[in-house]
Amino acid sequence: MQVPFLDLKAQYQQIQKEVLPMITDAMTNGAFVGGPQVAGFESEFAAFCDSKYGIGVGSGTDALRFALIAAGVGESDEVITVSNTFIATTEVITQVGGTPVFVDIDPQTYNIDVTKIESAITGKTRAIIPVHLYGQPADMDPILEIAEERNLVVIEDACQAHGALYKNKKAGSIAAAGCFSFYPGKNLGAYGEGGAVVTQNENINAKIRMIRDHGQREKYFHEIEGYNGRLDAIQAGILRIKLKRLSTWNQARRENASYYNEVLSRIPGVTIPVIADFATSVYHLFVILVDDRGGLQQFLNQKGIATGLHYPQPLHLQKAYKYLGYRKGDLPVTEISAERLLSLPMYPELLREQIEYVAEVINEFMTKN
Ligand SMILES: *Cc1c(COP(=O)(O)O)cnc(C)c1O
Repeated sequence: MQVPFLDLKAQYQQIQKEVLPMITDAMTNGAFVGGPQVAGFESEFAAFCDSKYGIGVGSGTDALRFALIAAGVGESDEVITVSNTFIATTEVITQVGGTPVFVDIDPQTYNIDVTKIESAITGKTRAIIPVHLYGQPADMDPILEIAEERNLVVIEDACQAHGALYKNKKAGSIAAAGCFSFYPGKNLGAYGEGGAVVTQNENINAKIRMIRDHGQREKYFHEIEGYNGRLDAIQAGILRIKLKRLSTWNQARRENASYYNEVLSRIPGVTIPVIADFATSVYHLFVILVDDRGGLQQFLNQKGIATGLHYPQPLHLQKAYKYLGYRKGDLPVTEISAERLLSLPMYPELLREQIEYVAEVINEFMTKN
């Protein structure tokens, strides 16, 4: 049996009948940048996120960068975030002139350890970016409390958490802005690049609309310098077709996760994902923790099961951030987890037989070693 890490072709087969006419339509009408598809998606996605405004942008990275600029984060500002994330979370901090400051993660959820934030705050701290990693929201209430006390901006990196809930609130709708990626492999994925910011704040909405479009409100009249960071009309059309099915797909991921938990919890030495009481995960990834991660990954690979590492090297130990001066041992929970975490195949179309097979192979490895 072959078990791919994700299966975008199986998903495409479900929506092909809607996707092809939509693309033909766009070609016929010559509508490629902006227009009714983008506006339609923006309002539907904002509604999905229980947010007042939605702004389509070119990628999740654009979403994060524009949200920081719109919230006034810039030159020589420190921004607190985690090291166990994709580098886009921190690239944008440097790109606006700031400095990333890393805090350790919670050993159960692998999300930001909220008890470590206060001691990382300095006179230069301006913002916090909690990442809702693997589809599970970070513990937002304590973060918002600290932010209010210290007058800091909070931007949610919800790039892996479309539809996730924190205490019944939608991920991305809770802080000043929520940033989403529509990279093909995400829970809501385009057929190319795409991203969005959602916000309840009219000011942030208006600013990001300008920033994504060369700082113009009206064509060729530029209030500020901006970026070319728009969402394509065809991608927006695809996202509208998929958004209608997202809740069903997320539910299928949760059911797959619960079956994984059932079959994996019997295997000694495997730590299954822990979802906090306050969270409803959308399982962008299904991540287990084992001591011999390398050995297990290789064994699974030999048996036709694809896996992933999220992430093999924490950001604070990356060459790109050597200049920040972090050393091995600075973030012990992040570092120990990075060596032991393994992402198993996870997507809505995953079959029970496939999950059973993955568990069987893991069991074989664990009892032998
Ligand atoms: C995917 C992702 C991003 C970046 O999104 P792109 O659309 O690839 O630019 C940012 N943060 C996290 C946590 C992500 O998973």
